[in-house]
Amino acid sequence: MVKKPSKAEIRAREAAVAGAGGPAPPQPNGYGFGALVGQDSVIEALRRALDDNRLPHALLFHGPVGVGKATCAGILAQALNCSVGGFKDACGTCVSCRKMARGLHPDIIWMTPEGKGGQIKVERIRKEIIDKVGFRPYEGRRRVVMIDDAHRLNASAQNSLLKTLEEPPPSSLIVLVTPAPESLLPTVRSRCQPLRFRALAPQVLQRHLEEVHDIPADEARLRAVLVSGSVGRALDLDLDTHLGRRAVAEESLRDAIQGGAALLASAEILLAAGAGDRKVDQAASSMASVRDILRDLLVLCSGGDPDLLVNADRRSDWQDWANEMSPDGILAALDAVQRADDRLHGAVQPNARLAIEQALIEAGTALSGEAVRG
Ligand SMILES: [Zn+2]
Repeated sequence: MVKKPSKAEIRAREAAVAGAGGPAPPQPNGYGFGALVGQDSVIEALRRALDDNRLPHALLFHGPVGVGKATCAGILAQALNCSVGGFKDACGTCVSCRKMARGLHPDIIWMTPEGKGGQIKVERIRKEIIDKVGFRPYEGRRRVVMIDDAHRLNASAQNSLLKTLEEPPPSSLIVLVTPAPESLLPTVRSRCQPLRFRALAPQVLQRHLEEVHDIPADEARLRAVLVSGSVGRALDLDLDTHLGRRAVAEESLRDAIQGGAALLASAEILLAAGAGDRKVDQAASSMASVRDILRDLLVLCSGGDPDLLVNADRRSDWQDWANEMSPDGILAALDAVQRADDRLHGAVQPNARLAIEQALIEAGTALSGEAVRG
């Protein structure tokens, strides 16, 4: 027997329909779980739970930034309400799926922190979640509440969610999405079933960038190796800045090998080209560029697998350069860069420019010695 809706429920429904049109989770390129890249084990676990009708009432999606956690939550919300996919996947084209993609579905709540670094406070949890989840879904099969960057729920907001997590209404699903699950209260974590998303392998990421985002092969490869496994970061990467830093690093290294006539200027420019707010971070990011070049030279010099090159686009230019070196010289230069990196990350804050200078001198000596003998 279907219970007659109470006045409160009718009011809440009207408010939800009128208030829909809010933010929605990021949309995949394509539809359904098949559009997610590189998260096979998560997708398999979700599909199995959907097949067996044993989806828990609270899930915790965690893993690196930009690997598809929020997108996956959105697909799951669609799948649970899709009128075509039969509770198993999202078609992406039915009315329900389209409403959800545009933030117009009254049963799907997508919450993100307001403002950069902002917290999600208890008032929002009460108003946007707790006051709504007690009712039956208004037009879908399952109400889905997703909280992105859930580590930015402050403590009282998390506490206010506890009861809902503990005794979830049968028709609701709560998905917390975060790269930092350890920032959640243990009481919150323990009430959610965790699903871990993984960083993508560079080859998988490269193929995805090429095939789905139409990025040329060379650039896709560069982006894929530079961002360690995140589609979001690969797309956001400021390639010009990165390439600028790499050019400075290459020039500094070439100068150091020639005796370092421009050493002081090199160190200054390298430092300025680095990323980060603190000088040590800038120095470390510039040293990372130098290290990537040295590693590539080592691959080229020792006839290694070209797939291992970070700067694959420079392969032909650097092959001659690498031919003038020996693996031992490059390894010694890499040691020098590593020592600089250790100092930069050590307990005592070093002079960042001096650390770069010293690394360049030592690397130059190691490499030029080999060049003379070679
Ligand atoms: Zn659908």
